[in-house]
Amino acid sequence: MCAVVGVYGTENASKVAYYALFAMQHRGQESSGISASNGKEITLIKNRGLVTDVFNEDSFKVLTGNCAIGHNRYSTAGKDSVLDAQPVFARYKLGEIAIAHNGNLTNKQVIRDELIEKGAIFQTYMDTENVVHLIAKSQKEKLVDRVVDSVKRLEGAYCFIIQSRSKMFVIRDKYGIRPLSIGQLEDGGYIVASESCAFDLVGAKFIRDVKPGEMLIFENCEDGATFKSEQLFEPDPHPCAFEYIYFARPDSVIDGKNVYETRVKCGKILAKEQPANIDIVLPVPDSGVAAAMGFAEGLGVPFVMGIVRNHYVGRTFIEPTQQIRDLKVKLKLSPIKHLIEGKRVAIVDDSLVRGTTSKQIVKMLKEAGAKEVHMRIAAPEIKYPCRYGIDTPTKEELISDSHTPEQIAQKIGANSVGFLSVDGLKDALGRDRDYSLVSFDGNYFAGGCADSLNCSGN
Ligand code: AMP
Repeated sequence: MCAVVGVYGTENASKVAYYALFAMQHRGQESSGISASNGKEITLIKNRGLVTDVFNEDSFKVLTGNCAIGHNRYSTAGKDSVLDAQPVFARYKLGEIAIAHNGNLTNKQVIRDELIEKGAIFQTYMDTENVVHLIAKSQKEKLVDRVVDSVKRLEGAYCFIIQSRSKMFVIRDKYGIRPLSIGQLEDGGYIVASESCAFDLVGAKFIRDVKPGEMLIFENCEDGATFKSEQLFEPDPHPCAFEYIYFARPDSVIDGKNVYETRVKCGKILAKEQPANIDIVLPVPDSGVAAAMGFAEGLGVPFVMGIVRNHYVGRTFIEPTQQIRDLKVKLKLSPIKHLIEGKRVAIVDDSLVRGTTSKQIVKMLKEAGAKEVHMRIAAPEIKYPCRYGIDTPTKEELISDSHTPEQIAQKIGANSVGFLSVDGLKDALGRDRDYSLVSFDGNYFAGGCADSLNCSGN
């Protein structure tokens, strides 16, 4: 998961990066960081916490210059510690660099072992630190050649934004697994961000997506900022389907497709594939709202916001124990009883992972007087852990790994459970390209495998 941003050729670049990170807070809440360059030196501020916790007005007195890169972290490799916050900064033979990374490298361990064997010392558990070492150890004279040398060693999913004192490099892996787009600011400067929703907040115009396998180099010329492009790898596009299903913000456009519209389509197709005799359709807020609208429209049944979400549940409750997870759902969601009482209800969510949320919600709806509760999931059954940057538990913890929809219905107390088919998801996404469907079909096309212990990466 995670968000990355790079801003080049504009005054107060770090403030633009800050607002972009604020717009992309949903991509990671563990830590946030910005590094800025004024041409002579790179300064860096990063810490655990939300964007608004980490930075204040004084931060921007430190983070000066026309280039800034930033990162919001959601740990999928490494640990939740301040050391593992990004950007990662280093001094090396050619000067100073900072790196921000979204994605997961599947050959992390192989490269790390090799570097350690040769005497490298690591400060963090992050796969991103490998890249710093590879750049520092490369024998090439120019930074651009060192960067190319280094990324050629990497497998898996990555969007990198790399900053030197004068330039900014942007690289997206050849599969284009994680999203990355380029926008232009009103004063002619550039912004590159994981999601286009960041552009809307800072008033940038969307230019295009970074192509899979492409490297962009931003530099200053006489007329201001400019960038050139180099195709480093033959593109083999496999954008992540989960960005559309759950992760990205509904107002973002990824690789030409609006996230909200795609979710509505998933819901409509789900209505055809898994209809139910019901009186009302409720979404699980907020993740299931768009799909539930499509599902209700598909069935011609009223869509009702029958569950209220409390938006003030703090991070204190995000603890990885089963007991706390159960409590978390109740703290977050509560039903509007008079809308639900005596009704046959379909409840729509975007995905089912362990089954914890749905079990609690079904119980909640039955206690609120629902006559029947039919769970509908606007994604296929998740049977495999993602190794490319979406946080998923082990295969054994995934409820669909060991249970059929009928068994899940029994386990969570629902009258029925229905999932979108893989074909239905492909129809919703469009057949114009292959998507990464690894969580559903176990096709680890970019390395890695279902078993984390015997996997080359992670
Ligand atoms: P579970 O309760 O374990 O079945 O998880 C399903 C809920 O988690 C759904 O409401 C999803 O919106 C949400 N969800 C799905 N994928 C993720 C993820 N990678 N990280 C956090 N939440 C997720």
